[in-house]
This record gives sequence, structure tokens and C-alpha cells, in this order.
Amino acid sequence: MTLDAGSISSPAVTSPPEQGPAPGCFTRGVVVVKLGGAAGIEFDAFAADVADLVRSGVRLVIVHGGSDQTTRLAERLGHPPVFLTSPSGHTSRRTDRETLGIFQMACRGIVNQRLVEHLRRLGVNAVGLSGIDGGLWIGRRKDCLRAVEAGVTRIIRDDYSGTVEHVDTRVLEALMAGGFVPVVSPPALSTDGDPINTDADRAAGATAGALGASALLLLSNVPGVLERYPEESSLIRVASRGEFDRLGRVAQGRMKNKVLAASSAVIAGVRRAVIGDARLDQPVSRALRGEGTVLE
Ligand code: ADP
Repeated sequence: MTLDAGSISSPAVTSPPEQGPAPGCFTRGVVVVKLGGAAGIEFDAFAADVADLVRSGVRLVIVHGGSDQTTRLAERLGHPPVFLTSPSGHTSRRTDRETLGIFQMACRGIVNQRLVEHLRRLGVNAVGLSGIDGGLWIGRRKDCLRAVEAGVTRIIRDDYSGTVEHVDTRVLEALMAGGFVPVVSPPALSTDGDPINTDADRAAGATAGALGASALLLLSNVPGVLERYPEESSLIRVASRGEFDRLGRVAQGRMKNKVLAASSAVIAGVRRAVIGDARLDQPVSRALRGEGTVLE
């Protein structure tokens, strides 16, 4: 089940996992889990696993993005998405004022509310918020973007995007102290007070670092970082600090952000980051057990 509009069914009755996370598998502190939105992700399995883990006492902060939903909503609203390619080949969404509004509707109005609603039906005391709420995610809005079009570099100055540079964890701590499970979506807030489109993987990594989380789990539609993408048997199972740069070179496209998020979190003190598979049952428990690409 994916997060397409209207695609969330009533949750199936779930039984407790046969095998919980093994002892000593980093479940004592907070665990930050970022759920991707790519095709093939098993949303029902994710929610059921979260419910079981929360019942067994694991403290979770859930983060998600909304890129695919933004694209679909933008098309439906007659403001089709535009993607920019930087001179270094990096692709990003052009976020003008109207796209920003659509991005907020998609992330907060669609994905976040559905996740919260679904988790609550499974008995999880979930609360939805965006990076704006409580000044959680603060970043600098990019002054200008350079975009290459037909061999010509164009400068764009009115884009609403940026990277999270500061995480104020107080709102998360208050929610967790009250027994809630925070579910966080972009946007972030710029230092000038504007909402900004921000990468949810990187924001999850920054959040894990700021919380001093015991683990960061980035779940997507691949088993982890593949040495020879898309050959799944070429999964890189573990990378230590000296190998982070090489891992970043192996990763292409949007996987680069996940490697950057995971490696920055480990460098910031998170004990372990796992890039894992959200297409399987118990995707969170599996990643907690170290299934995927483990950075430590
Ligand atoms: P999500 O939206 O679920 O967070 P993304 O689409 O942002 O996921 O990133 C996952 C994608 O990264 C994969 O579907 C795959 O197309 C791409 N990718 C690029 N290089 C690699 C690689 N070396 N190993 C695994 N995935 C890769």
C-alpha cells in the first residue's frame, strides 16, 4: 500500500512481531525513522510495525517527505512541477510561491494527516507537526539557485528552498514527555521566517543528531545502498566512518541525500544509521536489527 490519495485502507488486525529487536539493538534511546514515499513502499506494514514497537516501549520520532504527492497535486492543480539541474548535475524542485503552497498542502495536508490518522487507528498516540511548528527546523533560504537550461546557466532568486541548519528539539521533547509519537513533515522555517522546501532525509538526519538519538533509520524502496544499482544482490551491508565518502560516490540521485543524512548523523554522535527497505514486513524492526546499509 502506498500513500497515494485515497489508498490507505483500514488497518488489518496485527499480531505482535514474532521477533522483536534483539537486545542491545539501540532501542533504549530515541529512534528517528524517516519513511520514504517512493513506489513499492508498504505503508500498512510500516504502521503496524511502528504500533508494535511503540507498545513495546521504543520511543520513535517519525519523519516523512512528500515529493511524489507534491508532483501529483501540482499537476492536478494546473501548476505542473519544474525540476532544475544545477551546474554540478544535482536536480531539485523549483519552489516558487505557488509551489510552496502546494508542497505544504501535500506534505502536511495529505501525507502527514494520513500517517497520523492511520497510526492513531492502530492505537499509536501520534501527533502531526511540520518543521515550522515550535520552530523545530530552522534553515537558511537559498539566496539564489543556478540552473542549467539548454547549456545556459540561469540564476533564480525567488526560490523557497533551503537546508535545515538548526533543530530546536524542545517541541519533540515536550511531545514525547507527554507520551505522544511525533510525526514530522517539511517545510522548515527560514531564518527570515519563510517556510522553505527542505529535504526530509537531511532534516531527519539533523533531528537525530540534535536529539542524540541512538539510531536513525532511512527507509525507502531499495534494500540499502547498492554497489551496482539496481542489482539488489550488490547491497553494501556496512560502512564505517572512513568509507562514508566512497558510499556517497556509489549513491546516485536521491540516494546521495540519504548517505549524506546518515553519515552526518553518525558524525554528530548518532550511534548507528541504517538505510533500509520499506517494502517488507516489519521494516522498522528489520532496520533496527541492522538489515540494510549500516553506517557506524
Ligand atoms: P524515498 O522517496 O523513498 O525517500 P528516494 O527516491 O529519494 O526515496 O531515494 C531512493 C532511490 O535512490 C532509489 O529508488 C533509487 O532509484 C535511487 N538510487 C540511486 N543510486 C542508488 C544506489 N546506489 N543504491 C540504491 N538506490 C539508489
